[in-house]
Formats: sequence, structure tokens, C-alpha cells
Amino acid sequence: MQEKFILAFDQGTTSSRAVVYDHTGKIRAMAQKEFRQFFPQPGYVEHDPQEIYSSQVSVAAEVVAQMKISPKAIAAIGITNQRETTIVWNRKTGKPVYRAIVWQDRRTAGYCDELKKQGLQKMIARKTGLEIDAYFSATKIKWILDHVKGARQAAENGELAFGTVDSWLMWNLSNGEAHFTDVSNASRTMLFNIHTLQWDEDLLKLFDIPAAMLPEVKSNSTLFTRTSGLIFSTKIPITGVAGDQQAALFGQMCIHPGMAKNTYGTGCFLMLNTGNKAVRSQNRLLTTVGWQINGETTYALEGSVFVGGAVIQWLRDGIQLIKKAADSEKAARKVSDNGGVVFVPAFTGLGAPHWNQDARGMIYGITRGTTREHIIRAALESIAYQSYDVMKAMQEDAALAVHALRVDGGAAANNLLMQIQADILQTPVQRPLVLESTSLGAAYFAGLSIGFWNDLTEIEKQWQVEKTFHPQQSAEEMEEGIKNWHQTIKRVLL
Ligand code: ADP
Repeated sequence: MQEKFILAFDQGTTSSRAVVYDHTGKIRAMAQKEFRQFFPQPGYVEHDPQEIYSSQVSVAAEVVAQMKISPKAIAAIGITNQRETTIVWNRKTGKPVYRAIVWQDRRTAGYCDELKKQGLQKMIARKTGLEIDAYFSATKIKWILDHVKGARQAAENGELAFGTVDSWLMWNLSNGEAHFTDVSNASRTMLFNIHTLQWDEDLLKLFDIPAAMLPEVKSNSTLFTRTSGLIFSTKIPITGVAGDQQAALFGQMCIHPGMAKNTYGTGCFLMLNTGNKAVRSQNRLLTTVGWQINGETTYALEGSVFVGGAVIQWLRDGIQLIKKAADSEKAARKVSDNGGVVFVPAFTGLGAPHWNQDARGMIYGITRGTTREHIIRAALESIAYQSYDVMKAMQEDAALAVHALRVDGGAAANNLLMQIQADILQTPVQRPLVLESTSLGAAYFAGLSIGFWNDLTEIEKQWQVEKTFHPQQSAEEMEEGIKNWHQTIKRVLL
């Protein structure tokens, strides 16, 4: 019998990737294509929706060609995507009425401040699990309707469709037949009630968004649509969809309450599975739908660190203490500790649980004996300490103990950083064999739905750890470092 595969689309902020997974969960082929970023004004970030789609289709064709397989060998497609990014298009012509407004875009920040002043934060958090912020799609949709000529009228006439990137891809892949999204992407729009799992009428009214624009919301592992004959000769079912962080949590097989993952990229993205409970955070973390499978909903808490791996980029490009990111490990290993140096890389303020936009970075504790290596070590430690603060806040909110932290992302390659993380958390850190957690999660959702994998137990068994970092220092030994870190944070916030 011909071998079958799952094709995962990982539509990210700077590039589109396609990854082919086989039945054992191994990567068999991968292709990636960057696309343009538009910055038309300070604070504005846009993408060309057509380019998002065409780059995604071209990498899909590339992996199929690389593998020399017939599209018939692809049992299903899974999609994961940059979340919140907003596209509005005309249902008849299929043309976007405006460029995609990217999650990073701050053009609606002023409007969000007004909403906060009106005292709407509590109501919005209660329904959506989110903080009022320009990240989320709601204010971006409103901006398009308010600023594109004729858009509001057309939307009210039912002529326009809204979608996050998953919806946009599916609509195009199905040649305009499917207008769907999934619960995880919907839960980042600030229009979706995460308890009833429905678009929220009050919020639609508040943002003045016609319900007719919205996609139908489905669970994560189910038949969404099929590709039309335009892309591949066969119609391939799309049977798994999730936003990138949720897909990563699933790809890490954090499927039980108390399981958590951290993605160490430019920033760090932490997520904790809280089971069937939507936990309200006391530390301004976000509550979100992880996924829904077979009618069962799993919730998660999410927190992020703004500057994670980016502090290492700064060492490389800013003050040029290292030539490449990986050199940070070699240098930091030359010293046994930070020599009293604490580095708080609050380049763009501090996120959870401190939440201060105006905070700026600090390197504290420099003496005559401080070396380049101490500063590099302190920079690595800062990634681990910031992640520790978010993890602590999450565990407190959820009243759950985390027994292991699963890691991925570029900086997870740094063994010293992973060891430091395990020591600070006093928790084992597990780095998986397949580091592509995001696309793997999309593949798992898609494969589960068609019986490519029978159930979660089967997937859990095949998911493999490459290396576990066990704490090597005691909690007492770590105490002083944590105290120094928090003291320095206090100095930053003075
Ligand atoms: P993103 O998806 O946000 O672009 P990646 O997951 O590709 O990020 O990770 C890149 C980040 O990881 C960069 O900020 C880089 O400085 C950091 N990084 C990469 N390798 C290492 C390493 N060996 N040690 C520490 N940081 C690293």
C-alpha cells in the first residue's frame, strides 16, 4: 500500500512553511518562503493577503515535488497560523478590501485606551479572556470598516467576509466555498465568548461589526473543507486548524491539565493547559481556548515575555559581544555564575506579571571584576528568570503544579539556558525530538480527525523527548539569584 502523509501549513508572521509528516510523526520534507512586510506608517504593520496565500501554496507544491509523491498520498492538510491578523475581503470577487492588518499593528491602540477608560475591561475579559489591546482582531476589523470607502455599507449588505489567516487560506484553497475558522483562532478576535463558544452579540454591537461578515466556528479536529482542483489534482481534505501557540501546545502533547510549554523565540510564549476550566487570571495573563476535540473543550492560560532570544540578538548586533547566537553558550560556560551581574532586558517595557510599558533595560551589579562572559551569562539568565516569573504567575492563577516544562523555539537549542531554566524552576525541562511543535500540532489535529492516528494515546506514545534537563541545583542554592533578580526588577520599576 502506498505510504500516506499529513501536510501541515504553518503560516507565520514572516514566512509561510509547509511540512510533510509521516505516520511516525517524523518530518519528511519542509519548505519555507518569506514574504513582504509593509510598514506604511509608524506603528502600522501590514501583509499582502494574496502573497500570504501564494507563498503558502508555493511551499506546499515544493514539498510535494521534493518528496516526488502524488498529491493522493496526502491524507489530509492541517493549518496553523499567525493569530489575530485581520483580513476583510469581498465574497464575490475574492479580493481583499484592504491589506492584512498584522497582530503587531498598533493603529487602534488609542481606541483601545478609550475602551479601557469607559471601564469595559472587566466585561471584555469576562467574555473573551483577553485584555483590551490592539493585538486582537476586533478593533482592526472596525478600523477597516471605518476607513475603507464603502466597506461598512458592503459589510452590512453581506458582501464582505472577515477572517483570520486560517479562514483566508481555507476560503482560497476551497475556491471560495468555505468560510470557517476554529475555536482557538476565534478566541483571539475579542469578539468570541470563550465560555459559550459563540460570537458575542454584545461585542459585535460594541465594535459595530455585522455578524454576516464572520466565519462559522468549528472545533479543531474535524472536516473543514477540501482543496479545490485549482491547487492539487486531487481534492485534499483540510481536517485540522489552530492558531500557532495553541498548535504548539498540542504539538508538544501538553494535553493534560498542568502541562506547559515555552517557546523561546524572539520573545517567549508560555502556555499552560488548565483542562476544562477557563481560569481567570489575577496577573493579567490571557485565558484562551486551547482546542476543542470531540465536543470537549480544553482551556489554557497564556503569557509572554517580550524580549527572549532578542536579548541574544542584541548581544550580537547591538553591543557586539558575540558573533553568532550559539556563541552565547560557550562564553557563558567560561564563568561559573553571573558574578553578581543581573540583566533586565526591558527594551520595550515589561510584560506579565509586572506590566509596565515604560520600563527600560538595566544591567546591574557591575564591578571591576565583571567580564564579557558575566554579562552574556546574565543575559541568558534573564530569559530564564522572565519565563520563571510568567510560569509562577500561571501556576498561581490556575492553582496547578507544573511537573515539567516542554520547550521549543530557536533559543531552546542552548543547553546551558535549558539547564539554568530547570534549576530556576526546580522543574525538569523537556526538549522534544521534533522541535517544530507548531506544524506538528496542526498535523496532529488533521491526522486525528481522519483516523491517520487513532487517538491521543497513540500520539502521546510516539511523541519523543530528545533531552531532559533535570534541576542540578537545590531550591536553596537558587534562592539568592531569584532574590537578586526581583530586586533588580524593583530598581527597573523605580
Ligand atoms: P522567531 O520565530 O521569533 O523568529 P526563532 O524560534 O527562530 O524565533 O528563534 C530565534 C531566536 O533565538 C533569536 O532571537 C536568537 O537570538 C535566539 N537563539 C538562536 N539560537 C540561540 C542559541 N544557541 N542560544 C541563545 N539564543 C539563541
